[in-house]
Amino acid sequence: MQADAFDTSGPDLLLIGGGLANGLLALRLSQVRPDLDVRIVEAAETLGGVHTWSFFEGDLTAAQHGWIDPLVVHRWPGYAVRFPQFERNLSTGYRSVTAERFAAVVSAALPGRIMLGAPVVSLSETEAVLADGRRLTARAVIDGRGPVATPDLALGFQKFVGLEVRLAAPHGLTAPIVMDARVDQAGGYRFLYTLPFDDRTLLIEDTRYTDGAELDRDVFRQGVRDYAAQQGWVIETVLREEDGVLPVALDGDIAAHLTRMGPTALSGLRAGLFHPTTGYSLPDAVRLADHMADCLAKDFEGASLAADIRRHAGDVWAGRGFYRLLNRMLFRAARPEERYRVLERFYRLPQPLIERFYAAGSTLADKARILSGKPPVPLGAALTCLVEKGRA
Ligand SMILES: Cc1cc2nc3c(=O)[nH]c(=O)nc-3n(C[C@H](O)[C@H](O)[C@H](O)COP(=O)(O)OP(=O)(O)OC[C@H]3O[C@@H](n4cnc5c(N)ncnc54)[C@H](O)[C@@H]3O)c2cc1C
Repeated sequence: MQADAFDTSGPDLLLIGGGLANGLLALRLSQVRPDLDVRIVEAAETLGGVHTWSFFEGDLTAAQHGWIDPLVVHRWPGYAVRFPQFERNLSTGYRSVTAERFAAVVSAALPGRIMLGAPVVSLSETEAVLADGRRLTARAVIDGRGPVATPDLALGFQKFVGLEVRLAAPHGLTAPIVMDARVDQAGGYRFLYTLPFDDRTLLIEDTRYTDGAELDRDVFRQGVRDYAAQQGWVIETVLREEDGVLPVALDGDIAAHLTRMGPTALSGLRAGLFHPTTGYSLPDAVRLADHMADCLAKDFEGASLAADIRRHAGDVWAGRGFYRLLNRMLFRAARPEERYRVLERFYRLPQPLIERFYAAGSTLADKARILSGKPPVPLGAALTCLVEKGRA
């Protein structure tokens, strides 16, 4: 809606940024706390940007699937992975949310409460200042403006460019190929990721776990085109393109990071709420929305809400040291061209263990199993990765 039509009289919650985390939060609160006046202020002209957000069925509980289901556009009963020495079909369901559906569902849940085309230039626990100088106040503000520089966290990067393409003929795929690493590794861990949206439409992403955050889009686009050609898929039209540089957490001081972000309540990537290995944040955003729906005290205000989310984010980070250890082994111990072997070995493990890994819910036994046997990385280098220094 236009900024002029937006009622600015002190809502309960003002969500800055209409991306994944804040959109899910607004949707969940509209379902379970309709008493709250929740508004979104978004810099862009649409909610959700250009994204396809996917997740594994095992990432969420049945109740969470229930409330997120209206956002899901594509569902598959399983997926495949392909490595040079090993291929596997898994029966874990895979689902995708499109930004278009996300925008439609969240907008319908907050009629008249979304301000688009309204960049925020500064904010505090209870106030946001727009680029045009207007000040919006609320009982509490939540900053969900997406990724930000993180000098207190040591990160590697998962980079990708995805092309949604229409093919000249049916591709024959019935399930996603979440990793096809039978490609040149390009100095890191590289794989192609393919989602079949219908019999002639695919989203194909060239993904690389390499050092450094730079993304050469032309190189990645060509990677997608070459892969399509190898599969015998003739691209008729490119319908859409998306790209990302997602964080892979190696180490870091989450308390320092959250303090550096300032006193305002945070959500999403800004709060460090992402899977350390995949950089995916949808499951964490669903969990934060549930956490707030369950725990938001009747008398909440900006400072108490910020403290509660900081505690939640700190606990989540603290519980995930194991994944950061694996990431350090992947980025710092494995020779770049050998990184795929770590994933190839991982995918030979039992399916429930793999599901718990992606849900960031690995048990002690899972962790022992993942680390047992002959590691596919040099032992000396692996040992130097064991200690987490708690700094970037
Ligand atoms: C292309 C892409 C695909 C991805 N695919 C997946 C996936 O399949 N599954 C998964 O779990 N994760 C995925 N991720 C990773 C992660 O989940 C997403 O980046 C996710 O969108 C992050 O959520 P967020 O709410 O923190 O930030 P965002 O969703 O990026 O939202 C931030 C919002 O804040 C707005 N904003 C920024 N500055 C201002 C300002 N000054 N004033 C007002 N508004 C502002 C932005 O316009 C944006 O809408 C993907 C990331 C990318 C980039």
